Amino acid sequence: MSSINAAAQKYRSLRLSVIAENLKALVTQAESNASSYLSFAEALVDCEQLERNSKRIEQNKRRAGFPLHKSLDEFDYQFQTTISQREVNGLLDFNFIDNRENVVFIGPPGVGKTYLSIGLGLKAIDAGYKVSFNTALSLMEALELAALKGDLKKKISQIAKFDVLIIDELGYLPMNKQGMHNLFQLINTLYEYRTIILTTNQEFTNWGEFFFDDNVAVPIVDRLFHHSHIFMLGGESYRLKSKLNN
Ligand code: ADP
Ligand code: MG
Repeated sequence: MSSINAAAQKYRSLRLSVIAENLKALVTQAESNASSYLSFAEALVDCEQLERNSKRIEQNKRRAGFPLHKSLDEFDYQFQTTISQREVNGLLDFNFIDNRENVVFIGPPGVGKTYLSIGLGLKAIDAGYKVSFNTALSLMEALELAALKGDLKKKISQIAKFDVLIIDELGYLPMNKQGMHNLFQLINTLYEYRTIILTTNQEFTNWGEFFFDDNVAVPIVDRLFHHSHIFMLGGESYRLKSKLNN
């Protein structure tokens, strides 16, 4: 009879390293449970699959580029009452991603827009989606750099590999003409193809000012807000919460 080690080596050579590493334990468990052949066969592949999935999720979390990890489970809905837990949970079936719809959080500083975008992004990754977090500024810089190298299209198609693009803080800084052009190219590519989660401090009426030019603002805003779930957040800044309590 062949040894466990020899069998494990065969799994390893087929790149089934999780089965290889756990073979002894899996065999022992099957023997002690008197498992059927079928359930043993399934247990082997489940073990490999489970580990691969959780590794992929960890990798996707690293690749997402979140500035910090914030769990939606700890979001304080007692403090932030202009969005309800029910509304946020309503997004967690991720139909909005499957339907390529956008989510937009609008509101003043400190009300939890970035928190909600990260929290939602993390949950999406747990559900198997690929997410990329970017501040509007870093995204614009990356696009500008790519455009300078003549690689704008390539950069945009890299971004489009993610299911969800988070753009945090659009509207805080004005943009030049080239920046608007680059952003339009990106948004146009992602339109009805990928999901954007956007946070902004700008009301719709101010968008023309931010983009300088309504001719570009209108088509960009149109594509961002069409098929989108819009949440207008208000209230006090959470950053001032501790100060207010003292
Ligand atoms: P915004 O992006 O709207 O300016 P942030 O999401 O960055 O605000 O929130 C500011 C700070 O307050 C962050 O540290 C965030 O984690 C915290 N915070 C905001 N809202 C809440 C909330 N409802 N519950 C818990 N922490 C919150
Ligand atoms: Mg923010």
